[in-house]
Amino acid sequence: MFKPFEDLADRQLAGGTLDRADARMILSAPDPDVLALVAAGGRVRRAHFGDQVKVNYLVNLKSGLCPEDCGYCSQRLGSTAEILKYSWLKDDEAVRQADAGIRGGASRVCLVASGRGPSNRDVETVASVVGALKDAHPGVEVCACLGLLKDGQAERLREAGVDAYNHNLNTAESRYSEICSTHDYADRVDTVAKAKSAGLSPCSGLIVGMGESDEDLIDAVFALRDLASDSIPINFLMPFDGTPLAGTWELSPLRALRILALARFACPATEVRMAGGREMHLRSLQPLALHLANSLFLGDYLTSEGQAAKADLEMIEDAGFRVLGAQDPALAPPNVPASTTPAASLAVRQRGAGTTVAPNA
Ligand code: SF4
Repeated sequence: MFKPFEDLADRQLAGGTLDRADARMILSAPDPDVLALVAAGGRVRRAHFGDQVKVNYLVNLKSGLCPEDCGYCSQRLGSTAEILKYSWLKDDEAVRQADAGIRGGASRVCLVASGRGPSNRDVETVASVVGALKDAHPGVEVCACLGLLKDGQAERLREAGVDAYNHNLNTAESRYSEICSTHDYADRVDTVAKAKSAGLSPCSGLIVGMGESDEDLIDAVFALRDLASDSIPINFLMPFDGTPLAGTWELSPLRALRILALARFACPATEVRMAGGREMHLRSLQPLALHLANSLFLGDYLTSEGQAAKADLEMIEDAGFRVLGAQDPALAPPNVPASTTPAASLAVRQRGAGTTVAPNA
């Protein structure tokens, strides 16, 4: 047991507020102490969320061709990333896509569209999709992510049945102009405020690994705490070729765990999601991250493929967690593997010693 982290967990469980010195200690935890950090953070996570993992599923309603220039984004103005580009999905196609995620165990569907922000006509398009989705799956939560909102649009989305609105702060205010020139940090804060005042649950998080310092990260996490975001997705930069951040690989798996621990200790009772890029940055440490994060996206992301959804569900079960809503008949995910399901078949070795086939090394 590493006492400083255990003391921190005790303090946060008693309602304490993380300060900058605590945050620096978390981000600078020496490699041999990261397991103790995760164990202490895991106590905080389990106190608020038990063994449950919220599974979310992304549906990209409209992909690519965005006029904004967010440097991390494969859909940005001038991106040459070879991603899928298409305009609004029809209602039945959007529901069909969402249905796959719900059958896989998702209790929340995130409906996303590229662009600076929706027109009122776009909002009506999304309202129609939400109506069809809620008719098919009355128990599912719907989060919309459509960019910057204008007056009245959040209220219309709420009226149409949208439960939450995602708009990430992405990084520290002091760095925002380095990652985007077509809108600013204040625009983002304004949209989160609009969503909140319309009664939508605010979902706002970060993209890490974009050149930020520890102090920047602390600023960004504390800003999310001040914003009282109900859920905080932590995305790990996926540096697409054809974007300004191509080739940016700054995160190690241990660094990714420290960042998730910072979010968990700063916002003990908030949903923390290990979001896009977890596979390539946490790599073999993904199951450890479940002791800090209580939420993930199932399967694929907006423009990139994630690991197989089956592997996500097996990882949750293998690590001793349960999919939120798995016991709920309204959401019952038939694809969630039973504990008796063998994860892999046993294959007799046919290579290496005793054979003429190259060894597995
Ligand atoms: S506004 Fe959204 S879709 Fe457009 S470039 Fe920025 S992050 Fe990408």
